[in-house]
Amino acid sequence: VSGEVIGAVEVVRGVGEPPFQDGHLAVLTALASEVAVALDNMKLCEQLSGKVEIANRQLVAAYSELRQERDRVAAIVSNMADGVLLTDAGGRILFINPAAAQMFGLDPRGAEGRPAREVLPYPALMAQLGDAPTESQTALATIRVEEPRHLVLSPRTVRLLDERGQRTGAITVVSDVTLLQELSEMKTEFVSVVSHELRTPLTSIMGFAETLMVSGDRPAAERDEFLGIIQQESNRLLVMINDLLDVSRMEAGRSLALSYSLVDLREVIAHVVRFQQVVTSRHQFHLALPDSGLQVEADRDKVVQIFTNLISNAIKYSPKGGEIRIGGADRGDEVVVDISDQGVGMSSEELGRLFQRYQRVDRDAIKGIRGTGLGLYLVRGLVEAHGGRIWAESTPGEGSTFHFTLAKRRAA
Ligand code: ADP
Repeated sequence: VSGEVIGAVEVVRGVGEPPFQDGHLAVLTALASEVAVALDNMKLCEQLSGKVEIANRQLVAAYSELRQERDRVAAIVSNMADGVLLTDAGGRILFINPAAAQMFGLDPRGAEGRPAREVLPYPALMAQLGDAPTESQTALATIRVEEPRHLVLSPRTVRLLDERGQRTGAITVVSDVTLLQELSEMKTEFVSVVSHELRTPLTSIMGFAETLMVSGDRPAAERDEFLGIIQQESNRLLVMINDLLDVSRMEAGRSLALSYSLVDLREVIAHVVRFQQVVTSRHQFHLALPDSGLQVEADRDKVVQIFTNLISNAIKYSPKGGEIRIGGADRGDEVVVDISDQGVGMSSEELGRLFQRYQRVDRDAIKGIRGTGLGLYLVRGLVEAHGGRIWAESTPGEGSTFHFTLAKRRAA
């Protein structure tokens, strides 16, 4: 075949038979060339079917890889916390993932195939899905959803283009920014509360200092009283600024610097109660402390700060007065302290948010009671820095009890 030998034909003559002639040779030659072509075709056919089989196997492998990839993408999209929305060039919803369906309170099957402007008629989203979204629309827009629950959502849309640059649709990723939004609102509120809290003692310091300056010849008793107020208010300012510094330290993830010594909690409690007793005549302090076993390795100033915060809260949040009970117990490796009051108390919902920063719930029971919402967040940070825990119990209208532990030995 094509000048190449691919085989040979042998013909044998029987004994006593007539010899081959030219006619036989002609037939044999024709036969051989037909057989050669057939043989060659067969070889070609075998080669081809081998190749087809390989191609087939490759195709099956590629398909299964593609399917795995598709399943993986589907699993990611279905399980991601962000909502995903796929729309076609006409703004019809092609796909909506479970997170997005949940955020908007939709049934995915009911939404798919329908125009986005009917199902999700939010201006921020429509602006992004529109023909020419501007930079500001894509960057800042938020959507407020009230049903099935209050959410602040931030959509971001990317357009899908084909190879000719024609729009084929868009993918929108919707993130839940409710917490961020709340935190930012709380921070704004916090800044205004703190500024107010800082201004109040400053105003009073300035007022009394001015009075003293203007009329120099006041009776000594009155002058001492004014100076006492100035000192008290300056102290309040200092405590507040120190609290703020500690909180900003905690927020930056830096640990609070502790300077350890052996601290007797009985002595600290007596010291703090002596100071706090001065500010109230309506509260009776009741101490239930064992004679020994309340010594801990701790930073004394910080422990004073913990007690000052909790006891001043107990006073502040029981405006009608009552008993403030401070108990302590030796539990081997740690000491447990309880501080209870007979004040306004808290609901279980307020209890749940208690030790978070800027938590200051506006409620009727504490109208007129001043505070920044920083104290307990800081107290928790201080207790935990000492290897302890803090928790609280409360009944609205009856009072609250705060418990915390302090490790007796400083952690290695
Ligand atoms: P602040 O007292 O400055 O508002 P805190 O962090 O000390 O901040 O307290 C946070 C909130 O916890 C208070 O606003 C108040 O609602 C509640 N709270 C704290 N201590 C008590 C208490 N002993 N009784 C009732 N409510 C309390």
